[in-house]
Amino acid sequence: MIDYEKKINQLLHDQFGFARFRPGQEETIRAVLDHRNTLAVLPTGAGKSLLYQLPGYLFAGTVIIISPLISLMQDQVDRLHRQGESAVVMLNGQLVGPERRRVLGQLGRFRFVFISPEMLANETVLAAFARVKISLLVVDEAHCISQWGPDFRPEYLLLKEIRHRLGDPRTLLLTATATPAVRQDILAKMGLAASDVAVIVQSVDRSNIFLAVKNTTGQADKQEELLALVNKYQGPGVIYFASRKLASQMAAWLTSKTTLNVAAYHAGVTAVERFRIQEQFMNNQLQVICATSAFGMGIDKNDIRYVIHFHLPSNLENYLQEIGRAGRDGKQSIAILLYSAGDELIQRQLTTITVPPVEILAQVKQGKLAPAVLGEQADLFSFYLQHNFAPAQIARAFNRRQQQLERELQQLLAYVHSDGCRREYILHYFGENLRARPSYCCDNDEADIDEVPIETSLSTHPTDTTADWASQLRRLLNITER
Ligand SMILES: [Zn+2]
Repeated sequence: MIDYEKKINQLLHDQFGFARFRPGQEETIRAVLDHRNTLAVLPTGAGKSLLYQLPGYLFAGTVIIISPLISLMQDQVDRLHRQGESAVVMLNGQLVGPERRRVLGQLGRFRFVFISPEMLANETVLAAFARVKISLLVVDEAHCISQWGPDFRPEYLLLKEIRHRLGDPRTLLLTATATPAVRQDILAKMGLAASDVAVIVQSVDRSNIFLAVKNTTGQADKQEELLALVNKYQGPGVIYFASRKLASQMAAWLTSKTTLNVAAYHAGVTAVERFRIQEQFMNNQLQVICATSAFGMGIDKNDIRYVIHFHLPSNLENYLQEIGRAGRDGKQSIAILLYSAGDELIQRQLTTITVPPVEILAQVKQGKLAPAVLGEQADLFSFYLQHNFAPAQIARAFNRRQQQLERELQQLLAYVHSDGCRREYILHYFGENLRARPSYCCDNDEADIDEVPIETSLSTHPTDTTADWASQLRRLLNITER
């Protein structure tokens, strides 16, 4: 056996520049080093990438990281480059032709390979991995395994089979939030017996985030409330919207109504522009970001002081992930959900699935009807048909999923309308109890939200930072090309 003890701390310090582990990190890394399959449920900002990066330097072979979003993968790849790691590659649909063949031909030379689940399901890719020593298989956003519906990646359902094809390598499942039922379901869908898996769960409680809900009387009132909050708390802050269009409109509106620099950040913004926004936000040249919840954000900023939701998130899991961006430096921060009666209709519209009748699904399967008859979600239904799910099974699963989405929305609404402690409500939802109530807990405990001490010490920077970000972009491109 290698003397891991000394090496772990040496790596943590020298390679990653940390003095000590954050809660949950050490336990998880030890379980992985003990060759155990591991499920780690650690809140956003707990430092999840270290959990596979550190073992990656102790094991011989390649670490495969399955990630659902290119932006998340790109972010991790950039970070590894910045740490001086060059044996890292990202495999996704954008990698084609000779370049793809070259990478697949020498997979074993990479220490870290990031890949989308659909790419890993590809036969050529699986064959290439068969020639590689896999030291660890990492499934990021593992809660995707437990979901059915238009709001997730169906390819995650193939992971059990893919893992088997790869020779059942040691596996690390990572997620930020998962109720006990979801944890169980993740293991079941991966074909792992609970007794064979080390499960590490950190409390979802973020005691330095004050929780509040503001009731408003409609769109106009809500907008005024938002303006008042943004003027009061300044930034850095993130505001979530249900649509790209509204995120962009409100960013423009807030820019015109305040002295702050505000930008929209969502999948409709070009990659170069997103990069510029990230850099400016990191440097406090931008104070507020208007984002959509559908878009994974590659921004790891420690001093975000507030997260405001202009619209309802889809459930408490997502809400917690999104507000978890605030206060990673441990300082007092605040999460405010703006609500006006009927907001749930928008959310319901976003998550509604029209499930085709079983007979129609069957006829598409037999090739008697074109998949287009399956409607807006045709690709999704086709995916299941192609992977030999029976039409009745698909219809049943989607109807069940629809009911589950409605249940989750009701639980979120109960949070909104609750007059009890909001922190307790969230903790109960995730199967936890409140151990200690922080001094600034929630608007139902405190007399006045205005008493919550939020630092608004943003320095104002000149708006023209073009030269600055251009040089940083060049630097990044140089690093990536290496
Ligand atoms: Zn409370």
